[in-house]
Amino acid sequence: MKTPPLIWTNIILFALSSLVAVVAVPWYAIVYGFSWTEIIAAVLCLGYCGMSITAGYHRLWAHKTYDAHPILQFIYAIGGAFALQNSALHWASDHRDHHRHVDNNDKDPYSAGRGFWYSHIGWMLRDYQGDSYNDYNNVKDLQKNRIVMWQHKHYVALAVITNVGIPALLGLLTGHLMAMLLLAGVLRLVLSHHFTFFINSLAHIWGNQPYTEKNSARDNGVLAFFTYGEGYHNFHHIFEYDYRNGIKWYQFDPTKWFIKAASWVGLTSKLRTCPQERIEQAKLQMQLMRLQQKVKHLPDADQILQTLEQEYNLLISRLQDYYQIKKELLQRKKQQLVAQYSQCEFKQRYSEFKQHLYLQRQQWAQLAAHYS
Ligand SMILES: [Zn+2]
Ligand SMILES: [Zn+2]
Repeated sequence: MKTPPLIWTNIILFALSSLVAVVAVPWYAIVYGFSWTEIIAAVLCLGYCGMSITAGYHRLWAHKTYDAHPILQFIYAIGGAFALQNSALHWASDHRDHHRHVDNNDKDPYSAGRGFWYSHIGWMLRDYQGDSYNDYNNVKDLQKNRIVMWQHKHYVALAVITNVGIPALLGLLTGHLMAMLLLAGVLRLVLSHHFTFFINSLAHIWGNQPYTEKNSARDNGVLAFFTYGEGYHNFHHIFEYDYRNGIKWYQFDPTKWFIKAASWVGLTSKLRTCPQERIEQAKLQMQLMRLQQKVKHLPDADQILQTLEQEYNLLISRLQDYYQIKKELLQRKKQQLVAQYSQCEFKQRYSEFKQHLYLQRQQWAQLAAHYS
């Protein structure tokens, strides 16, 4: 197969920004130094870019795990352009292909099967997609979204305005233009790029697989820290319609926390989660498979395998029983609440009718007294 042509715009952009980040930024730090204002501004900009990608591009638009208010969508659209990771429409289209054809070296745009470099950045350096680059058939729903399409249409202008305009504006406000351009401009962009790229590369190489081995995705707490919670990638690849990636309370998933908190003020709604029962079943199935692999070489393997199978089946049936009764309990509580409400309403109607009768009796008595 012929090697596809290089995409020089991307190569120059990645090379120049990296060069400035590793040469000019440390040089400026040594010669002039950075103030806390610039460091805090860069961290905030980094967070804004990162969360626009994880909460916006990824969990909202690519996977539709929740609904978002247009104001929030607009904020994501601007932040996504600031993160310089192509338009939301294009990003979501690539990402849906990634999930659908994960690890398929021909169809997954950043297949981990082609190695770290390719899945991290290499896939963007050559025109590997060819004619399919502009094929947006898998994002027809997003083509009806006015904010997504507006951002797609004006992506280049928005990317330039945000990447030059925001750091420059911050620089002019603080009086340290060059420092702000270097830190909130270039270093922020380079870090933001690689933190996201880690999800395509490292999150498919480094970590454990508690839920599935059907694809290369891994759960990794360290990566979750740098990727705003996206490091729980093994869970994500099996339950991609769940708005959470880290499902345990102690797992670092600020994207999930943000989406949840935004629902309290009406900025997000219809947060989708996978039933706990299915999550536990997937995990148990993986444990069983691993145990079977481990014991199959033991002398009494047949006996152990049989016991494992029996206990596993029993556990699954107990699990199903428990979640079934839990569901019924919730339904009963709901019915009770409805009953309580209607009883309350009934009592109120009783009092109202009693009052109406009393008033009408008084009226009658007055009328009767008047004519008798
Ligand atoms: Zn995804
Ligand atoms: Zn992935």
